[in-house]
Order: sequence, then C-alpha cells, then structure tokens
Amino acid sequence: MLVGVGSCLSDPLTFSQKKSQVKVIMCFLGDTGMCSSAPGLVWQGPLCGLGEWEEIGEVDENYAPIHTYQVCKVMEQNQNNWLLTSWISNEGASRIFIELKFTLRDCNSLPGGLGTCKETFNMYYFESDDEDGRNIKENQYIKIDTIAADESFTELDLGDRVMKLNTEVRDVGPLTKKGFYLAFQDVGACIALVSVRVYYKKCPSVIRNLARFPDTITGADSSQLLEVSGVCINHSVTEEAPKMHCSAEGEWLVPIGKCLCKAGYEEKNNTCQVCRPGFFKASPHSPSCSKCPPHSYTLDEASTSCLCEEHYFRKESDPPTMACTRPPSAPRSAISNVNETSVFLEWIPPADTGGRKDVSYYIACKKCSSHSGLCEACGGHVRYLPQQTGLKNTSVMMVDLLAHTNYTFEIEAVNGVSDQNPGARQFVSVNVTTNQAAPSPVSTVKKGKITKNSISLSWQEPDRPNGIILEYEIKYFEKDQETSYTIIKSKETAITADGLKPGSAYVFQIRARTAAGYGGFSRRFEFETSPVCKCFSLLPAPRQKYSSVVVCFFFFPRRCGYSKAKQDPEEEKMHFHNGHIKLPGVRTYVDPHTYEDPNQAVHEFAKEIEASCITIERVIGAGEFGEVCSGRLKLQGKREFPVAIKTLKVGYTEKQRRDFLGEASIMGQFDHPNIIHLEGVVTKSKPVMIVTEYMENGSLDTFLKKNDGQFTVIQLVGMLRGIASGMKYLSDMGYVHRDLAARNILINSNLVCKVSDFGLSRVLEDDPEAAYTTRGGKIPIRWTAPEAIAFRKFTSASDVWSYGIVMWEVMSYGERPYWEMTNQDVIKAVEEGYRLPSPMDCPAALYQLMLDCWQKDRNSRPKFDEIVSMLDKLIRNPSSLKTLVNASSRVSNLLVEHSPVGSGAYRSVGEWLEAIKMGRYTEIFMENGYSSMDAVAQVTLE
Ligand code: AMP
Repeated sequence: MLVGVGSCLSDPLTFSQKKSQVKVIMCFLGDTGMCSSAPGLVWQGPLCGLGEWEEIGEVDENYAPIHTYQVCKVMEQNQNNWLLTSWISNEGASRIFIELKFTLRDCNSLPGGLGTCKETFNMYYFESDDEDGRNIKENQYIKIDTIAADESFTELDLGDRVMKLNTEVRDVGPLTKKGFYLAFQDVGACIALVSVRVYYKKCPSVIRNLARFPDTITGADSSQLLEVSGVCINHSVTEEAPKMHCSAEGEWLVPIGKCLCKAGYEEKNNTCQVCRPGFFKASPHSPSCSKCPPHSYTLDEASTSCLCEEHYFRKESDPPTMACTRPPSAPRSAISNVNETSVFLEWIPPADTGGRKDVSYYIACKKCSSHSGLCEACGGHVRYLPQQTGLKNTSVMMVDLLAHTNYTFEIEAVNGVSDQNPGARQFVSVNVTTNQAAPSPVSTVKKGKITKNSISLSWQEPDRPNGIILEYEIKYFEKDQETSYTIIKSKETAITADGLKPGSAYVFQIRARTAAGYGGFSRRFEFETSPVCKCFSLLPAPRQKYSSVVVCFFFFPRRCGYSKAKQDPEEEKMHFHNGHIKLPGVRTYVDPHTYEDPNQAVHEFAKEIEASCITIERVIGAGEFGEVCSGRLKLQGKREFPVAIKTLKVGYTEKQRRDFLGEASIMGQFDHPNIIHLEGVVTKSKPVMIVTEYMENGSLDTFLKKNDGQFTVIQLVGMLRGIASGMKYLSDMGYVHRDLAARNILINSNLVCKVSDFGLSRVLEDDPEAAYTTRGGKIPIRWTAPEAIAFRKFTSASDVWSYGIVMWEVMSYGERPYWEMTNQDVIKAVEEGYRLPSPMDCPAALYQLMLDCWQKDRNSRPKFDEIVSMLDKLIRNPSSLKTLVNASSRVSNLLVEHSPVGSGAYRSVGEWLEAIKMGRYTEIFMENGYSSMDAVAQVTLE
C-alpha cells in the first residue's frame, strides 16, 4: 500500500519543548535520523492470528527510504488487527507522553468498500514491572484514546506525491509500575504509522546561585511544582539553603536561597575560582578577591587575609581591607607656658601618624632635683586637664604642681598599634620650672562677738602661705541663700560682718591671696546672729488646756532706715546675686515670677521701711488693692520728703498680697528719671505699703483734661520725650509694659512725666479700660497693637503702638482715643487700616510719628531710642513743629485710612460712613446736623 510520499519527520520542531526538558524513552521512526538518541526498539510483529499490520519500507518525497507499519483492510468486515510494542521502561517517570505520526486514507476516496472502511484507530497501554506481561489478553489493555486523523489522503494526493502526515500526542499517568506496553488496534482503516515517540518531561540539571540542581522528572500532576534542594558547588558555602521548583512543563521556577564562594575564592562563570597570590578574600560575603592592602602581602593561593610587612601592624579591630600601620612619630614643636604652679603644654601632631587616624597623646611627668639632676615620677597630686592619657587635642594643662620645682614632661603620641611595638615609643620632652604657689586654704576660723546684726570672725594664716599674704577674701551669705552673697576683702585676719538679720544663720568662707594668686576657699563655717527677743511666760488661764505659752515680742530698732553694714576703710564690700555683681545701670529686668517665693523677690529689689518713718497725710486716689495716699517719709540721716503711699486693704488674700508687692518687685528694679521711683515697702507691719516718690500733678490724662490748651507744643513734646525716654529704658531692660496709656503716666510739679503702673498680673485685672478679648485675656483695646489683641504678641514694638496712642492723648489734651466707638468697632477699623486722625493743631511731624507707631507690621514701627532722638531733634529745632496737619485733611475723616480716600468721592454722609464701615453712626450724624459732606468737613474734635 502506498501511504503517501515526502517526509517532514526529521523536523525537530515537532516537539513543542526544548530537547533538554524532554527525555525520549522509546522511538520508532520511519526516518532513522530522528530518533538516534533513543534506545533501540523492537517492534512486535503482528500478533498471531490477530491482525494484518505489515512492516513496509517506502521512500519519502525525496526518495529517501522510510520505514512504516501499515494496515489497509478496508474492504473486509470485522477487522481487529493489533500492533504491539515491546516492554518500555518508564525510567521512574509517572507521566509519559506518546507522540504519533501517521497517514490515513480518506474512505470517501476509495472505490467501493465504503460500508466497511474506518478513519480511526485505538491506542492502548498495559502496565507491568517486567517483560512477563507480554502474552496478556486484549481485554486487559487499557484504552488511552481513539485516534482520528486531522487530514486524510486521497488518490489525488498520491498522484501529486503529497504526504498528509498527522501528529497526535496523548499522555498517560500516573503510572505505578516500572514499565508498560503500548498497543494500536486497527478496526478497518487504511493507516500507515510513520513514527511513535514515547517520552517524559524533566527539569534539566542546572547550576543556579552557585548551587547545583539535578535532573528532575516532573510530577504526575500537570499543575504540580516539585521542590528540589540544590547542593553548593565546590568551594562554596551555604548562605541560605538553595531550593528551586520544578514545574510540570520541565521548567525551573522560584529559586530560593543561595551559596557563596568561600573565603579565598571568588565567583566566576558559575564556579568558585581560587584567589591568586597577592590577592585575598576575607569572607564569603566579599564580592571578589582583592589586592593585598598597602604594607601587606600573601604568597599563597586562596588567601583569606594578608600578612603585615616588617614593622607594620594590624589592630585586632582593623578590617582586613585596611593597610597595615605603625606607631606614630613623636609630637613636634612642643611649647610650655608656666603660670605659677600650673603648666600649659601645646604641640603639633607628629609628622607621621603611622597611617592611622586614632592618634592620641600621653603625658609622662617627672620631677627633677636641681642639685642631683635625678628625676622621679610625679606623685598623684598633679592634676591633668582634661586628662593625662588618651588626649585627643594637642594641649594639656597640669595644675597643683609644686612651687619652684623642675619638671620634665614627655609628650608621647600613641596610636592603635603602639602597644604592638613598645620599643618604638617616640616622645618630645619639655623641661619647666614652676613659679610661686598660691597659699593653702585657711583652716581655722573662730567666731568673736556676735550681736543681732553682726558676727565677728578671726582666723589664722594658712599653713602654707607660699609667699606674703596680700589680703583675705571673706565670702558670706545667709544660710540656704547662696545665690545672693557678699564678699569682703580685708588685710587683717579678723572682720566683723554687719548689717545681718537677727536670729539668722550665716555661712562664711575665707581664702588668702599672695602674689601667686588666690588659694582655695576654706571649708564652710556657720554662725548665727542673736535674736532681738524678750521672752516671758504667760501663766495659763484657768480654763485653758495649755500649760504655758512662750510669747516673743520683737522690737523694731529705734532708728529709721535700712540696715547697712558699717565698713572698715580697709575693707571692700560687694554684693552678688545669682552670680552677677549688683551694679546699677547694666541690669536686665528679672521677672518676679521666676522666684519660687515672691517674698524673696520683694526683699531682693525693694527696701524694707519701718512703718514709723512714714506719715500719711491724705487720700489721693484709689488703687486696685486699696487707697493711694500722699504723705511724708523721714529716713535716718535724710530730710523728710513727700511720698505717695499705696496701701493693701485689710482682709487681703495671700495672692492679693503677692500681686500687690509684685509691683514693688518690678518697680524696685528700675532706676530712671522717667520711671516712677520706689522708695521701699512696708511688709513687716500692717498695713502693707508701697512707698514711691510723690508726683504732685497725679495721672497725666486727668491733668491734661484739667489744663486743656494750656501748654505750648514744646511743653507737650517735652512730656512725650520724657515718656519715650522712660520707655526706652524699660525696653532696654527687656521689660514690656503692656498697659502704656496716659492714665498710667504720672506727672510732677515740674511737668516731668514718669511711667508707672507695673502690676504683676498686668493689664489683666487692674485696668478698668481692659476688656476681655475673644481669646480670654483682658486687654485695653484702644491702646493695644493689633497683634497683641489678636494673638497676645506683646513686645516693645506693641508698647510703641501704645506710645503712639499716648502721643495722641497728649496732643489732644486727654481726649479718649476713638471717642465713643465700641471696642469691637475699634478692632475692626484698625484691622481694616483706619487710624486715628491728627489731633487739632498737631504738628505734622508728630502726627507722622504717631502714624509710624501704628504701622501694621510691628517691625516697621520706630524703636523707642529712635523716638527719643526724633523728639530731641524737634525740640532742638522748634520751627520744625510749626507745620501743622492741614485742617481740612484732618477732619475729612474721623478715622484716617492709610491709602487716602478723598472725601470728594462721596455723595452723602451715609455713603461715606458706610465706606469706612461706620454706617451705624449715620443716624447720630444726621441728628446732630451733619447731613452733608460739607458739614462733616467742619467737624471739630469738640
Ligand atoms: P494706681 O493704683 O497706681 O493706678 O494709682 C491710683 C491713683 O493714685 C493714680 O491714678 C494717681 O492719681 C494716684 N497716684 C498713684 N501713684 C501716685 C504718685 N506716685 N504720686 C501721686 N499720685 C499717685
């Protein structure tokens, strides 16, 4: 039978997969070239009596011989022809694939015999562990499939020599035995079987991440992934156990873990190659072999480190990649500076640091005899600043050396490898002779006479004066009040500290000074002044439970005045507070709140006055805490003079007392001709009082109202100058007033204005002008800068704003700023850029200064010193005050907008008031006859 001609059997692309992923285990081919790698195959001949398969040699389209098995019994009924393979080992695979190539005759193209002709055949298998199963019965075979042709050939194809070859693949599994037989059953078709190939799939052996993965037969299931462990290749070590997954299609998937070339080996082309001599690899993690670092070498292959050359070393903690290093050379250019018994040494780093950055210095100290020249190590009494060893900086100070002694200091540079070569120590020496020594501390102090206000002391010269004692310094302070102390200097070995508080403990320390300087302070000696106390016993009242009560009456000293130390002309006395010497003029303001005990602040800054020194004459005003009186103060040794006396009303709370005296704590810190002067306080008797200088004309606002139009411009500017000068002083002290207003300025009979009202709680409670803001604080709205109203940003710049308002008050003789506008309207108008208009007859320069103080940007406002200079200039040049603010522009708006709005632009008073957000006042204007813009232009302040 002719099955067809031509062949594409040798086309390897008939396999859908890479050859490496497939293992062919049986192959029969018409074309022998194709299956050369497969084991030989022995076909069974047709089973005896069962069929008509014939082995026929043919030629393909190129006339090359091909080998086929054919059957073509299409004319006869009931065909059952079997063709069997020999036993095929499955080589451990549990799923095998069978690829068939065959041609099949189109039954329609056969003349006659149509009734019996078939176009399919069946494929079977039978599993067995060995060849014994060959004589089994037909019905023991398991059917794999019925195979039909995709294309069948006809007579025509034969004539044209076209070979219509079909390829079909079937798979079988899971297989459980070692092998199997295949069988093809013809039931009456015309078939030529050209090739049968039996194979299974595998993941081919591979090296991935330096791990070897073996050939792995895929799993029985088409979706199964087999996890396979890899084995690290030669000279590599496991970093993390290497694993991969073999897919059913024979592909390696999802590599996990890896191996690394071990120390001394590096990775090249999936292998680990040895490091050559002169190279090293210290750890599996280093990527490749590296050249030995400077001053090191290796003569061996596979080196994991390099050896240091002679005289070079490696510190244990140095990394193997670091060069070998050596101890440093000696420090250079050492210089010394002797200061009495201290020596300061300085040098420059060594020329050769040995290749290291960890150079430090060690100081060796030797004390040398000037007679014998012999040296010995210095004792432990020498102190090294900052230290003796491990010095990072190139300088050191030695203190507490012996006076008049020769020393040799050796400065040695040391680095991390110095201790590996102790013989290579290199240092630079410095010889010095110390000078005089300071005296040793005073050790014995004895108390002498003690009174209620004074303590007398005497002491002995120090054991080692080390020279002539020039003077002693005696420091003393009230026990537990160390921040506030007094120093007395005396040439004698005895002093009397006076001006002390009765019945109080005082701590004393003494030190001596020679030409060599001060010695150390002595230890602390504590002595107590005697109390001023007369004690007697009250006999118990008959019905009282107490047995006796001791009552102490303290008597005020008879003389009026402050307790003052009587001073020896040889003594010099200075007072200190918190480490600062108390000198007038150069202080900054100290917030009394920073004192834990406000009473301490009062006594710090205010003098205590005996109540008996004060004569109260009349009540002149009412303060927040009580009446304000005028009176007279007579201090000892001074003439009596007028004072104002603020009193704290009876029944006060502790907080009220604190707040009341808080003002004195603040006022007492100031000393300026334009700040109200505090004379002192009365706290030890009742009523509690604050005594200040007396200002005959009282508060400025009332005074100006009373004397409307009575002063020259120069007089008014003089008042403003004084206020500005006081404010400059306050701002220099760092004090922000927060309530600067004419009502808080006092004026004396010489028209000198002084800033007053320094409440502790400030503004919040004690000013009737203060109103609560939306943020809860209480603020005098009309006097306060917008940023202080909006977010409580009180600064000297906000004080400058208030100062501008005070200027306006002064120039308008106490007019109320913004008249009767509500606080809310004031805030709104100011926010929108409106400002107070110039007061009547106000010099343009002054109004300009007011506007400058009212700049929205607080940094653009002038500073108080600039205001003082400006006013000084105006006073020196009175003609500059002659130009007044143009009367018509002054009255054109009640509030002046910064970007001027011409009054001519408005047709009615209502429109104008609306434009300046004052529409609600239209009615008042109308009622008062200001119904036209012309009438408005005639408005005067009155
Ligand atoms: P003050 O509590 O400080 O606001 O004082 C209330 C009032 O007492 C002031 O408005 C002044 O009229 C008057 N006053 C306060 N201190 C003095 C003083 N040093 N000289 C004269 N009058 C004063």
